[in-house]
Amino acid sequence: MVKRYSAQKMMIKDALMRLNHPTASEVYEYIRKSYPNISLGTVYRNLGLMAESGEILRISMGNSPDRFDVSTNDHLHVMCRECGQVFDADSHKLENMLKEIDEFLEESTGVHIEDRTMYFSGICSSCREKS
Ligand SMILES: [Zn+2]
Ligand SMILES: [Zn+2]
Repeated sequence: MVKRYSAQKMMIKDALMRLNHPTASEVYEYIRKSYPNISLGTVYRNLGLMAESGEILRISMGNSPDRFDVSTNDHLHVMCRECGQVFDADSHKLENMLKEIDEFLEESTGVHIEDRTMYFSGICSSCREKS
């Protein structure tokens, strides 16, 4: 049982590394090509467990389904609303600005900020070229 669980996790990690910030069903479609017996429920459950334990990131993107990311370092996500591609941006340079936002929010609400969920979207350069 334990062995089977980790094999599934490895398949999921592999899928996450090959796909660009996939949704659960994209992970499922990818794994199913090599392992037709895997169920969507298994993929969902494992993604949820891995996100909870901090092994992977769950990214909430407005109204579209959650996406998952193997890189758990601090970075921001920008989605193209035309092609749906998700881009990574290093948030290192913004660290001071983000701290300022945290402080502002703490001052105005009294809540000590521990986590941020930010969602950016627009049109990527290749989609802009096409139109
Ligand atoms: Zn695009
Ligand atoms: Zn990312």
